Amino acid sequence: MTDYPATARERIWQFGTSHRKMARTGGPVVFDTADGCHLVDSTGRRYIDALSGVWVVNAGHSHPDIVAAMTAQATRLGYALSEEGFANTAAVDLATRLTDAVDGVYDRVYFTTGGSESVEMALRMARLYHSARGKPGKRTVISRQGSYHGTTLFTLGLSSYDIFSRAVGPLPDGLAKVVHPTCADCPLGRSYPGCAVGCAQDLADTIERLGPDTVAAFVAEPVSTSAGVAVPPPEYWPAVREICSRYDVLLVADEVVTGIGRCGDVLATRRFGIEADIVALAKALTSGYAPLGAVLTHRDITTGMPANALLIPGFTFTGHPVACAAATANLDILCRPEVHDGVHRKSARLATALRDRLGGRPHVGGIRVFGLLAAVDLEPPPTVPGRRTPSAAELSQLMTGWLLESGLYTRVVEGCVQLGPPLLAPDDLMDAIADHLASAFDRLAEHLG
Ligand code: PLP
Repeated sequence: MTDYPATARERIWQFGTSHRKMARTGGPVVFDTADGCHLVDSTGRRYIDALSGVWVVNAGHSHPDIVAAMTAQATRLGYALSEEGFANTAAVDLATRLTDAVDGVYDRVYFTTGGSESVEMALRMARLYHSARGKPGKRTVISRQGSYHGTTLFTLGLSSYDIFSRAVGPLPDGLAKVVHPTCADCPLGRSYPGCAVGCAQDLADTIERLGPDTVAAFVAEPVSTSAGVAVPPPEYWPAVREICSRYDVLLVADEVVTGIGRCGDVLATRRFGIEADIVALAKALTSGYAPLGAVLTHRDITTGMPANALLIPGFTFTGHPVACAAATANLDILCRPEVHDGVHRKSARLATALRDRLGGRPHVGGIRVFGLLAAVDLEPPPTVPGRRTPSAAELSQLMTGWLLESGLYTRVVEGCVQLGPPLLAPDDLMDAIADHLASAFDRLAEHLG
């Protein structure tokens, strides 16, 4: 019988961890099957999928409607070139379904195969938009400190993962950063509401400093998971929208994580009452049944884009028919008012369960929930002279291992437990997730003495 973890270590490059570390822990965990909200690994061990993979499987695993749509599409047309004068019916149907789902506010789509490609294409389109309108100097893209936008050199440059960027750089130029709206730990040292949302003003100041004629776009997540589900104050997004319009800077919403119902609406920007100029989607677009991303342009951008502006190379797999069929079936499942209502209800239940079961426990820090995105901070132990304090990375690894042992899969990254169960999960799964976390925090307290 194949020893899958050992063979995986031998045969597959594992990014984001070290092969040596995995050899010590017997990893990686190799998933084999899944159903609903559960994953099963190659040894038969079953886990609650408390992160939907990585905020991907919004419709849950092995959903029969998606499986049937993909099978039918693969039988009908598995692949055809879908640009340079060609398209396919599955891509056209999905473009129609998707633009309908956002009420036509965004009315044209470019399909990619993932989040990095969507963000990068969105920003290339922003630059092309400006140059095609006679403003070729507008090139710089501004992002926020603490963000993650992808792994291509361009999107890595927009992200705040210096350890990775240094290793693979040099990064492209024409990038700048502003502060993140993390009220719990304000980078400007202010407190809400007296701060007058200085984090948004930092964007205006940065555009002024760089010169408005040089700035093409501002890219940000409505709520950033890499910044620990940092929910901005209500004034933030309207202020950012106004600043971008004032300076003719395109607002690009990275909804790779937050889109497709995760936050209780098809787009999280809708929850903040704003419209972006361009939206990047991926992850849950097919609920993970096939790799697919999309770039949506606002109808004002679509009409403002000169007809010959997009003569750039595209992707071989753009508009992949089987992925598009999966996405159309997925949107039929997820874009229903009762699913969005369910997210709001389960969000409240998850918040209550986490606060009830974890509040007051040793080493539990901040708890933040927005839709079915949640984060629980792991409070490090105080430093004791003469005793080594474990790093956030060490504690995160221990917690991840204990949660897996107890039958719950999620990620603990840099001292933050990330959560995001499938949107169709039963309500009481929220309590079960909180129970697993409570036991893991108890184990941590015991471990740290
Ligand atoms: N944008 C955000 C907000 C993400 O969280 C990610 C990935 O986690 C990406 C972009 C990149 O997506 P992908 O890994 O599909 O390239």
